[in-house]
Amino acid sequence: MVEDIHPEELRRIALLVRGVVQGVGFRPFVYRLASEEGLAGSIGNDTDGVTIEIEGLAGRMEAFLVRLRAEAPPLARIDSIAVREAEAIGEAGFRIAASEVLGRVSTGIPADAATCPDCLRELLDSEDRRYRYPFLNCTNCGPRFTITRRIPYDRPQTSMARFTMCAACQAEYDDPTNRRFHAQPNACWQCGPRVWLVGAGGKEIAAEDAVAATIGRLLAGEIMAIKGIGGFHLCVDATNEAAVMRLRERKHRYGKPLAVMVRDMEAARAACALTAAEEALLTTTARPIVLARKRTGGGIAEAVTPGIPWLGVFLPYAPLQHLLFADERVQALVMTSANLSEEPIAIDNGEALARLGEIADAFLMHDREILQRCDDSVAAVVDGAPQLVRRARGFVPLGVELALDAPPLLAVGGHLKNVFALARGRRVYQSQHLGDLENLAGLEFFKESLGHLMRTFEIEPETVVHDLHPGYLSTEWAREWAREHGSGVIAVQHHHAHVAGCMAEHGLMGPVIGLALDGTGYGTDGRIWGGEVLLSRLDGFERFAHLDYVPMPGGEAAIREPWRMALGALRAAGFDVTSSETQALVGATEKEVRVLSRMMERGVNAPLTSSLGRLFDAAAAVILGRRVVDYEAQAAIELEGLAVDEPDCDAGYQMELTGGDWARREPLRICAGPLWRGLIEDLRAGVDKARIAARFHAGVAAGFAQAAVRARAATGVTQVALSGGCMHNRRLVRLLRMGLEAEGFEVFQHVHVSPGDGGLSYGQAVVAAAMLTIRAEASGRSRKPTPSMHR
Ligand SMILES: [Zn+2]
Ligand SMILES: [Zn+2]
Repeated sequence: MVEDIHPEELRRIALLVRGVVQGVGFRPFVYRLASEEGLAGSIGNDTDGVTIEIEGLAGRMEAFLVRLRAEAPPLARIDSIAVREAEAIGEAGFRIAASEVLGRVSTGIPADAATCPDCLRELLDSEDRRYRYPFLNCTNCGPRFTITRRIPYDRPQTSMARFTMCAACQAEYDDPTNRRFHAQPNACWQCGPRVWLVGAGGKEIAAEDAVAATIGRLLAGEIMAIKGIGGFHLCVDATNEAAVMRLRERKHRYGKPLAVMVRDMEAARAACALTAAEEALLTTTARPIVLARKRTGGGIAEAVTPGIPWLGVFLPYAPLQHLLFADERVQALVMTSANLSEEPIAIDNGEALARLGEIADAFLMHDREILQRCDDSVAAVVDGAPQLVRRARGFVPLGVELALDAPPLLAVGGHLKNVFALARGRRVYQSQHLGDLENLAGLEFFKESLGHLMRTFEIEPETVVHDLHPGYLSTEWAREWAREHGSGVIAVQHHHAHVAGCMAEHGLMGPVIGLALDGTGYGTDGRIWGGEVLLSRLDGFERFAHLDYVPMPGGEAAIREPWRMALGALRAAGFDVTSSETQALVGATEKEVRVLSRMMERGVNAPLTSSLGRLFDAAAAVILGRRVVDYEAQAAIELEGLAVDEPDCDAGYQMELTGGDWARREPLRICAGPLWRGLIEDLRAGVDKARIAARFHAGVAAGFAQAAVRARAATGVTQVALSGGCMHNRRLVRLLRMGLEAEGFEVFQHVHVSPGDGGLSYGQAVVAAAMLTIRAEASGRSRKPTPSMHR
């Protein structure tokens, strides 16, 4: 505030507030605030955020500005407030102006938010006019992203446009003192969307109360497809073993863990042993699925999460879900994205019938159109801090901060668990989780979502960023798009993107020692990387060390069949793979061993990999006898699960650091030979397998920590960034962090972005923005070459 203004002086100022300020009750909040402070003026939404003009006594204005930040509504996020002095005009009263659609869009669309306590009270109050109405909401809650076509976020731009509000709803909508003032999806029994029941054949099933009928069917063990906020769920009673098995049989998915929605926190505590951090995560307005420690005897069917000690639980976040649980007989429901394997989630009524008719016994449908597919988000508390495993509903499309200025660009992500990112200025907007980009359905979803977010944020990318892998569908698409649009193209190495993303989240420019540990990423030498120690800056990197290469006999098949990896790893470690003991260890027949040995000898269909994910697969095959996996990373997750109750032992199996000459930029190799010898010795000695799994984790963590120590000795760098899909492994992250800190390193982990491939596009955007910035600076200053080392 300007110091020399007397508090009694009359003053007028104009404010531009940026951030998430539309569709979150910001205008009524400002209206109330201005009224309470006796200020005149106006407020309106525009594409830059909200504009406020206030006029009145300078002292009251000061109070207004303080309260504007301090008392903002729960879903609002203020990024900046620009203040400009204006001429006082003697205006009386405060008014809310109609939305303007002018200029470039830079304001955020809010994410979908869970039903608020006020709405929940009304939902269950038999005296309320919205008693049991499945679509009630207010400015503090309800769908946003999934029903919005474009911004500004106003009713005509949403799928509520076709519902005309009744007089009572309209009155609430128009009343600045009402909780539903300009609540865009406002609706009631009289005027809003409705639900109905449909049989698998597509015919409507007559039911007086479709929700009650749905509950009856669920309790009878039926599979229901229920239309939600971001798509359909397939739903069964989670306490009914036979019903869960039936769902698995119809989906042909036998291993993949299913998420369970429980009625309330008490039920969540009964199903899982929750920490305070996990409870806090469960109750955020995003209501993610939280991966927590399952309780034995918690009442959840075994078939929900076979073979692992964790359960994905979440709480109801939509009125319709609260209604299902309002019946006390309903304790826990499997709620899994309604799709076939890795296809995108179904959103349209007709689409759901066509795709799910063979799976669901009946459908609970509604007529509020879902405009954006959006799966449930998945999160976990890893090493004491929340970590996103899948970033979707409740988070999208909120932007993530970027520490440097990006020209408009599109980063297309990778192959599995695809998420793309649009960047401009200091913000990166990540798409929702799109699933695997390996078929047409996946690519269609990608294009659909890209079109929507480009329109929403009015970003026309000048540069397209893709993974280095020449064979990815996303790479091919990016190059073609760039050709068509005449835009620039930048390829970013997979693990560099991971590390750069983690660096950018902490504003680090580097160099840092990046530990990028994951399953698969294409390396600059054409090999499959994934156990990498990179000396990384934002715009480039050098490979300091890596897990020693081992063959993947059968290529891609070795990912689905970990016994193949075990054979490759043991052979590389010097074991005689033709011996009957090794055959027994990996669970292979003599013939299988013969075929694979030949592949590896000749180097045919046996690509080399430095992937840590594959080392986990191999270890799981040997320790657990896991021959074939049913879902990605299953073997590694089971191995972590096996050790879950083991103390963090320090007696890890040895990893050996060999070779490497930093003066010649020859990377150090981290060899698992001694690790395998120790592991197999323990197996022979009959050591408890949980203990063996724990020692394996400890050995891997210590091996990478030692490589970091070598990197520091060679370069003096003391900061370490952890990234890659292996960072979902709690034990590994904990051991890495503790080991590195004990060595005196400063350790950085992801905060808002997933360390897995869901965060890849953010890192790609970071690298590209850094390269373009440095290029621009270099061409502006002199003819100095770009100091980037790798593209
Ligand atoms: Zn509400
Ligand atoms: Zn109404």
